[in-house]
Amino acid sequence: MVLIEDYTYQPKILVIDDEERIRRGCSKILTKENCLVDVAENGEIGLKMIAEKSYDIVLIDLMMPGIGGMEVLAKVREQHPDSVAIVITGFATLEHSIEAMKKGAFDFIPKPFTPDQLRVVVGKALKMTRTLQDIATERSRLKILVNYLTGGVLVTDKRKNIVLYNPALLRMLGHEGDSLDDRPLSALTTDEKLTGIIDGILGLNPGEFKVLSAEIMPHESGEGEFNQLYLRAQAVPFQNRSGEILGSVTIIDDITHLKKLDEMKSAFVSMVSHEIRSPLSTILTQIKVLTDGLAGEVSPKQADILGKVSRKVQGLVELSNELLNLSRIEAGLIVQDKQQVQLMDIIENLVGFMQTKAKEKNISLNLQKGNLPVINADMKSMEEVFSNLITNAITYTPEGGTVNVAGEVKGNFLEIRVSDTGYGIAPDEIPRIFERFYRVQTEKTRDIVGTGLGLPIVKSIVEAHNGTVRVESKEGAGSTFYVRIPLQ
Ligand code: ADP
Repeated sequence: MVLIEDYTYQPKILVIDDEERIRRGCSKILTKENCLVDVAENGEIGLKMIAEKSYDIVLIDLMMPGIGGMEVLAKVREQHPDSVAIVITGFATLEHSIEAMKKGAFDFIPKPFTPDQLRVVVGKALKMTRTLQDIATERSRLKILVNYLTGGVLVTDKRKNIVLYNPALLRMLGHEGDSLDDRPLSALTTDEKLTGIIDGILGLNPGEFKVLSAEIMPHESGEGEFNQLYLRAQAVPFQNRSGEILGSVTIIDDITHLKKLDEMKSAFVSMVSHEIRSPLSTILTQIKVLTDGLAGEVSPKQADILGKVSRKVQGLVELSNELLNLSRIEAGLIVQDKQQVQLMDIIENLVGFMQTKAKEKNISLNLQKGNLPVINADMKSMEEVFSNLITNAITYTPEGGTVNVAGEVKGNFLEIRVSDTGYGIAPDEIPRIFERFYRVQTEKTRDIVGTGLGLPIVKSIVEAHNGTVRVESKEGAGSTFYVRIPLQ
């Protein structure tokens, strides 16, 4: 029998027994098994040796003169909880053995015992110490890792008691009180968004996996805007092997600097767009004075050049309008005036308005209006959404194509589809077209002018209505944009 498979590991064992024969026997058998064995002939010496050196296993004879085995056992358990104690008992002392087990002995060996019996009991104990040591190592590794993370970490069990957290978390949530070990989550935070995502995770079905996230602002009403912290929390479940949810793990990041930068950027963009709009309008007026011949006769060549200049300036005006729009939406200024609207009426007006543009390209623009419920939305921004989508559909469809707009109730959502038979979008471009300023450059669309801001505006508005927008497309066959707005 091999007690330990890992030969680099030499377990330290102490045998405390007043019988020389037993001490010698144990020592011989276990030394052969690659153990480092010390012996003590009574409890006093044994305890002294334990105080000086740590042992993986201590074998204790229960019947000894002087300090009894039971007392030695109690001291070992108290002072060296990581050592495993095994008691050696005489024939008639089964009750003692049971009592010893109750006091924390790992196992017992009745006297007299064979070498194999000793090996079996010590072997079992060693397996146990290895497992305990592995768990302890893993724990301390985890603790160091978690403590040095700059992000906050919060682990709760199923009943929402805190089982692990780190200093970064305490700092972010401003907790300065007592230890939170095994305390309820409410001892740390009452933030509804944070507790909401943790509740959501703990309420998942067995085997279900989800990441729930929330932006939170701790001490919101407190120290004024300058000190405001913005945090992003992401919670996930942890499960046992059969998928049962055992608790939640939440990671919290400080996103204050990103928020501040974004706010600065929006303010800057808004200021610049505002500032360039009026000089651009002046330029346009001046060009019109020239083209109208109010400043003298204009030759056809000059008129042509002025026309081009005018179109470019018009493009710049549009760009500044869209930038201004986007920064207003992001600042939450546009989608404020929500009311009950019949979205299909708005879209019907738009479609009517855009027929001229469609006819210019010989495109058939159709609306399937249906009888749909009203939704709670901001009318102006809804116009903006569908004006962008329908304009795009017409713009990115070659002459003679078709653009269809239709609405339908899908579950708790009103879904509007804008589909075209146009150039379509390559699969790898699809995730990017909702990014600001992103424009797909292909042979066919190269000459089409645009800002790359239409779809980001659509997305921001739809999301401000708690809705979603997505696209399905096939190159050369056409695209369908799906907008979903919650019914109530
Ligand atoms: P813009 O149209 O000003 O370029 P958008 O943000 O509205 O900006 O659109 C981004 C890009 O997505 C466009 O440049 C175009 O390549 C692509 N796109 C948008 N709508 C369609 C469509 N219906 N069919 C094909 N491509 C489209």
